[in-house]
Amino acid sequence: MTTTETDSEETREGHSTYWYETDTGAVHGSSHLLAGQAELTDLNERVREAVSDTDAVPSALHPISSLYDSVGFNPDGDLVVEFDAGQVAPADAGRVHAVLPRDEAETLLSDLGLRVRDAATTGVREFSIDEAPEADKDGSVPAAPGVLAPRDDSVDCSAPDTTCVALTYDDGPGGRTPELLDALAAHDAKATFFVTGLPVREHPWVVRRTYAEGHEVANHTLDHPNLTELSAGGVRENLEATQALVHRETGYTMDLMRPPYGATDGTVAEVTAELGLAQILWSVDTNDWRDRKAKVVRERALDGASDGAIILMHDIHPTTIDASIDVIRELDERGYSMVTVSQLLGTTEPGRTYVDGVPEEAPEESPSDTE
Ligand code: ZN
Repeated sequence: MTTTETDSEETREGHSTYWYETDTGAVHGSSHLLAGQAELTDLNERVREAVSDTDAVPSALHPISSLYDSVGFNPDGDLVVEFDAGQVAPADAGRVHAVLPRDEAETLLSDLGLRVRDAATTGVREFSIDEAPEADKDGSVPAAPGVLAPRDDSVDCSAPDTTCVALTYDDGPGGRTPELLDALAAHDAKATFFVTGLPVREHPWVVRRTYAEGHEVANHTLDHPNLTELSAGGVRENLEATQALVHRETGYTMDLMRPPYGATDGTVAEVTAELGLAQILWSVDTNDWRDRKAKVVRERALDGASDGAIILMHDIHPTTIDASIDVIRELDERGYSMVTVSQLLGTTEPGRTYVDGVPEEAPEESPSDTE
């Protein structure tokens, strides 16, 4: 499938490959050719090596399904991965592809992948088109390799012996965000990044990495206006543009937003509800944008950390990156689980405003409950 997408900056052409099963009518995205996330990660490593003598940039390559959305086989059964122009290399380098020899690809393939390879190498003379199967009633999409959720069951913040804190970073990505991602990875910590449209355009591969490493990406508008000064249409445009930019890089549809300056009102609540976005404020403000001293930011973050806290920082300031490297290490030593906002809050309600995820007191048992 070829798609053309035009915005105020450019026109992009995208190529995706879907695989169709003639006997069941089922359609599969390309990442379903891989056996699982581990195999997709393995493939991504091999592709990084395979394209090392091209214009492709290794840091643009991450094991996510929106990047591995066009995978197939050549007539020898070698696995062929193709990327759109501008996706993993400068746009003027054109489309980039990598070939993994048949025997190397063998162990990475799912059952579907093996069948697709057989079909691709033997050819199919004739087939009929079956009715598409009915979608699952709950509308859920079956998990595919490279589709990552910002909430999983690896941490249960409601468990009494678990103390969770959500580190949140606004206005980025910035030039040193990759260092912050390194520090989070070193401590198996997760964070939430409320990204703004122009930095996403500037650092698209950092957004891709952020998503690929299991952090939550959330919406902080296109150009950081005070949303209470805009019409409903203006609020919608500002949020939708960033939804589209992040979706293009990651395939992910964000369901959290943070209004710039924490400024919200009834109109913002209505529009965010329509767009499926919960409004996330904070319980701890480090004021790191004003006080550019790593020591001060570090102390405020550590003093404010408590079970259920949402801590506000900005990853565009070098002092915040320096502070965060210490904060993450220290919180890890103190036994905190650093989680995404969605891990902290669980399912959120679009339009509603949240300031923290402090666990609610268990209601007192009334005598009638014990009968
Ligand atoms: Zn901001």
